[in-house]
Amino acid sequence: RGPLLRVENLTVDFHTYAGVVQAVRGVSFELGYGETLAVVGESGSGKSVTAQAILGLLPRPPAQIRSGRILFGGRNLLELGEREWENVRGREIAMVFQDPMTALNPTMTIGRQIAEGFQKHTGAGAREAEEWAVELLRLVGIPQPEVRVRQYPHEFSGGMRQRVVIAIALAARPKLIIADEPTTALDVTIQAQILELLMELKTRFGTSLILITHDLGVVARVADRVLVMYAGEGVEWGTTEEVFAETRHPYTWGLLNSLPRLDKDRREPLVSIPGSPPNLLKPPSGCAFHPRCPFAMEICRQASPPEYRFSPTHGARCFLHHPAAPRIAPAIQGGG
Ligand code: SF4
Ligand code: MG
Repeated sequence: RGPLLRVENLTVDFHTYAGVVQAVRGVSFELGYGETLAVVGESGSGKSVTAQAILGLLPRPPAQIRSGRILFGGRNLLELGEREWENVRGREIAMVFQDPMTALNPTMTIGRQIAEGFQKHTGAGAREAEEWAVELLRLVGIPQPEVRVRQYPHEFSGGMRQRVVIAIALAARPKLIIADEPTTALDVTIQAQILELLMELKTRFGTSLILITHDLGVVARVADRVLVMYAGEGVEWGTTEEVFAETRHPYTWGLLNSLPRLDKDRREPLVSIPGSPPNLLKPPSGCAFHPRCPFAMEICRQASPPEYRFSPTHGARCFLHHPAAPRIAPAIQGGG
């Protein structure tokens, strides 16, 4: 069988009063059954918009999907009507949002909130649904689930609320969970626990996971594959091993805090990449990273870099890999 998810050349515009924001510009990637893909990039890189497109949650208007396909189990989700979306969202693809407080309904017991999606998608009775809610609360590590199931979100701590949100996401046993910065709103110690929980449940349920994050430490620990996004484009992708050990794009280098500096002889780790992500109302010409790239060449300002492949799974868009490029960044260009 093919991959669970294949996104092909996804292009999303937002029509605003100021003009057209090109939020996602031709992104492609694949996710296998049971795999974890980390989508990495600064805010405004198009990660969340990509996730919303996969969930059919883009507000249209102002969002417009200009081109592309989102094949889920071979079916193009972009051709679904709203009715069909209702059967996919929550049942086959579920979302874990960043802020558990906005994801939960404050006026409903958490048991009800877990049971609701399960009943809607499976037609299960109230009693079965409540038993499943208790079981899920147990699985997400909430003590005394029989009692807690009747409580309201405000009676839970931030970390416990995010556990509840994960229980809701799992309720209908989806094939894919998309977690958008799922631990950002939490204390550092809690973050690690939530992430560990997510990974454990993902394995137990055989779910695939897309983890959207700006934290490469997290990626190294949990992801099978990585997609690095910049200015609405995928700039490097590969297995986690490939992207970390054989980094092929200057932006990925920058994210890894080891961008070699050309103005000094020695390599100096940088805390962050100088400059800021471009305004996607008017993306830079050529390679969108050129205004911030220490290796930018004349061609980088003029043309959009094509895809260069380093293995069947590993690729990057950067002119440093053109056969005629000067050897100005051996660590990125490879080949010893
Ligand atoms: Fe830098 Fe040019 Fe590569 Fe873009 S294409 S990342 S500007 S070297
Ligand atoms: Mg975001």
